[in-house]
Amino acid sequence: MSDLRNLTPLELQDAKSKLMGRYQACQSQNLKLDMTRGRPCPEQLNLSLSLLECRDSKAYVAEDGTDCRNYGGVDGIPEAKKLFAQYLEVDPDEIIIGGNASLALMHDTIMRAMFRGVGDGHTPWVKLPGVKFLCPCPGYDRHFSILEYFNIEMIPVEMTESGPDMDKVEELTRNDESVKGIVCVPRYSNPTGITYSDEVVDHLASMKTKATDFRIFWDNAYNAHHLTDQPDRLKNILTACKQVGNPERVLIFGSTSKITFAGAGIALMAGSKKNMDLARQQINLQTIGPDKMNQLHHVRFLKQVGGIDSLMKQHAAILKPKFDMVQSVLEKELGGKHIAEWSKPKGGYFVSLNTLEGCAKAVVSMAAQVGVKLTPAGATFPYGKDPLDRNIRIAPSFPSVDEIRQAMELLAICIQVVSIEKIMQKAR
Ligand code: PMP
Repeated sequence: MSDLRNLTPLELQDAKSKLMGRYQACQSQNLKLDMTRGRPCPEQLNLSLSLLECRDSKAYVAEDGTDCRNYGGVDGIPEAKKLFAQYLEVDPDEIIIGGNASLALMHDTIMRAMFRGVGDGHTPWVKLPGVKFLCPCPGYDRHFSILEYFNIEMIPVEMTESGPDMDKVEELTRNDESVKGIVCVPRYSNPTGITYSDEVVDHLASMKTKATDFRIFWDNAYNAHHLTDQPDRLKNILTACKQVGNPERVLIFGSTSKITFAGAGIALMAGSKKNMDLARQQINLQTIGPDKMNQLHHVRFLKQVGGIDSLMKQHAAILKPKFDMVQSVLEKELGGKHIAEWSKPKGGYFVSLNTLEGCAKAVVSMAAQVGVKLTPAGATFPYGKDPLDRNIRIAPSFPSVDEIRQAMELLAICIQVVSIEKIMQKAR
């Protein structure tokens, strides 16, 4: 089938009934596939099974003699700081090794800014009449949920091929003092897979902001999560911020959730020494120290397997065929039909697909009716509202390659049926 927009009403009707035949056949397959979230699959988790063997009864002393079984060490053990500082390309005194979730570190950092301000005598955001954040879209739903929870107004900014639309970002930050932040997933962005260009990184670091307490929340969750041998490069934003005299502007986050065990790994936060010193003081009130045992075991394990990069290559070997299957089914079923566009990421956990306007919700609901659960349409936008109702996030990591084939075929059928209905509606 070629460009659907050129078909006559009769041809469209005919195409739709054939597709409905295939849809009904899927119904009898009793599919039960969950592609709602970017969860690592069991084979990926198995790559880190020997992490558990690092937990032997002798492994509890850190390199500086700290007994990791006891309280203390609010920002992590030295070997973990060294390893993960290298991973995030910062100095060891510019990193804090946290608990199990980077999302919790981000949540708490925003909460502290709300109640105490970001330091240097800045007003706590909660005392201001309103606080706004820029949200590159489509983006990560959990970032949006945190901002919504704190009553921070979210302003969507369109993502381009090289990062957020910087003209818009500049216009909004330059004139409005209540714009206090932006949330970014700079490498293999969730869900578009886009990596920010050097120009965008420099622009974010150097742009004039009306708010002197403006912060970039740089969630580098997919820093090492490449799918190819030619990874996207990402410029070091902390260095860029320091070079232009804005060292405090960026707060960097990351974790091993998709390196070792999701939710049972370790979380990272980095930034200027001044920002980290403040966070250390504040975190010190919150906890007598993180789980240093897990940090110790992680360092031992990651060294054993030849470092993070070598482990990530093994993840890629598992994930790549899944991402390839998504691409091949979408191309086969939808290529040339002008009813959908989708990303071809070189890393990360998602494929982002745009349908014709006004179709995404109907597609997701039609797929759910035959057992394929996708991230709810709209979730990739603030307040769950995709103004054009067209973005669908595909998370291929968990199901098997064959399940992905089934799920993608079904998704493609639903996209075609809903698009045909839309085109016919318009023609009426
Ligand atoms: N940030 C992004 C962009 C993510 O996609 C995810 C996981 N889906 C997280 C953070 C969660 O990370 P963590 O497990 O460290 O909280």
